[in-house]
Parts: sequence; structure tokens; C-alpha cells
Amino acid sequence: MHAIVAGNWKMHETARDGGQLAHDIRALLDDAWLRNVTVVVAPPFTALGAVGNALAGSGVALGAQNMHWEDAGAFTGEIAPPMLVELGVHYVILGHSERRRYFGESDDDVRRKVHAALEHGLRPIIAVGETEAQRDAGETDACVTRQTRAALDGVERDRLESIAIAYEPVWAIGTGRNCELQEADRVMSLIKGSTSGLEDVPVLYGGSANPSNFAAYLALQSCRGGLIGGASLDAQTFATMVRLGAEARA
Ligand code: PEP
Repeated sequence: MHAIVAGNWKMHETARDGGQLAHDIRALLDDAWLRNVTVVVAPPFTALGAVGNALAGSGVALGAQNMHWEDAGAFTGEIAPPMLVELGVHYVILGHSERRRYFGESDDDVRRKVHAALEHGLRPIIAVGETEAQRDAGETDACVTRQTRAALDGVERDRLESIAIAYEPVWAIGTGRNCELQEADRVMSLIKGSTSGLEDVPVLYGGSANPSNFAAYLALQSCRGGLIGGASLDAQTFATMVRLGAEARA
């Protein structure tokens, strides 16, 4: 089964700079790697068109970082699923901790978005993970179990194959602090066991992954790839991580 290596550009790159970055990434990817790894690039909404153009025909999939659950309506500032589909988007990151923390996204919002994504043929990458306070209070397991179950509530079993889950300990995102390998493996296995039918759903690790530590996560039994933030903004670094993903699955 393929690894998935997804780059979350967050609020970085204008359309022009993003198109250039996508072009640079494309130039560094070896077609042979793409036989073993699904690569997703998720730029800001405004760069989706330019990045989609730069990646056309490359085999690299376009992702969005968020979306609303309604198809249209009076939701100023929001972006609807059909708008993403029209731009050639195939993946959408949902429930990222920055959405939960800074924009008040609830478990129920994430659930609605997951359903809407699936209705429109978009593949959700659902992010779950505990905060540092939750970890310190021994609530990691309860947190990721609750977030996973809530996001998938009501999703029919045969639709789970379109989903990936990213385990992203919030305290490890953008901090340079990594989750210990054994703990990451334990929590990712817990996620797989939290809902029936999830056994074959890809679980990715995210949280300060970089070319030095990524291979070790990929070697974990429970890990099928990575959701990469900061390290996805440099073409060479991201390409190296894609290669590591391919090698892990070769
Ligand atoms: C992320 O934003 O999903 C992420 C994992 O960020 P970083 O790799 O920068 O920690």
C-alpha cells in the first residue's frame, strides 16, 4: 500500500510564489517514487489555481487546508466543496489543530466537513491530536479517540477507504519537538482501533517531521506517511521526504 506524504503550506506562499514552489517540487520528484507514494500539496486557497497548473499531469495531488460543509450560501469568507472540486482539488485537510485552536472548530464542525467532503468526492485528511496540557494530564488517548470517533460519526464503512487520519500531537507542531517513536506508534495504533473499519485506513504522523526523523516514523508499523508543515515549504526538503516515503514502501 502506498505511503502518503502531504505538504501543508499553511498561510504561506502567494499564488506566484506557490506556483514556483510547486514547479520546483515537481522538478525534483522521480516518477519511480510516485509508484509507492501518494504526494499531496496543500497550498492556501488563493494559490490552488497556480499550484494546480504547475502540477498538472505530474501525478502530485492538489489538496486544500479547510473548507465549509455547505455547498453555497451566506457564509462570508468561506470556501465550499464544489469550489475546490472545480479547481482540481482531490484532498482536503480537516480538523487541523490550528483550525480548532484559532478558529474554534469543534468536533461536530469537523464531522460535518468530513461528510461534505465525501459527498463531493474529496478525500479528507483528518487531523487529530492532544495538546500539551492534555498530554500532561494523561488525556492523550481520550482526546484522539474522541476526535476520531466524532469526525467519523455516521460515515458509512465503505467510504472509509477515502479517508486518511493524521496523528499530530499539538505540542509537536512547528516546535521542533518530536513525539517519541514508541508513543507515536502506540497512539496511531489506538486511532486505528478506535472505530471499526479503520484498520486499513492510512494513519500519518505529523509534528516537526523532517528529513532526519521521517524515516524512523515511516518504519513504525502503524505509520503510513506524514503530514508535513514547515518542511514542505522547501522543495528539496519536501522532495527528500517524498523519497523517504517511497523507500519505506518499496
Ligand atoms: C502541520 O501543520 O500539520 C505540521 C505537522 O506542521 P510542522 O511539520 O511544521 O510541525
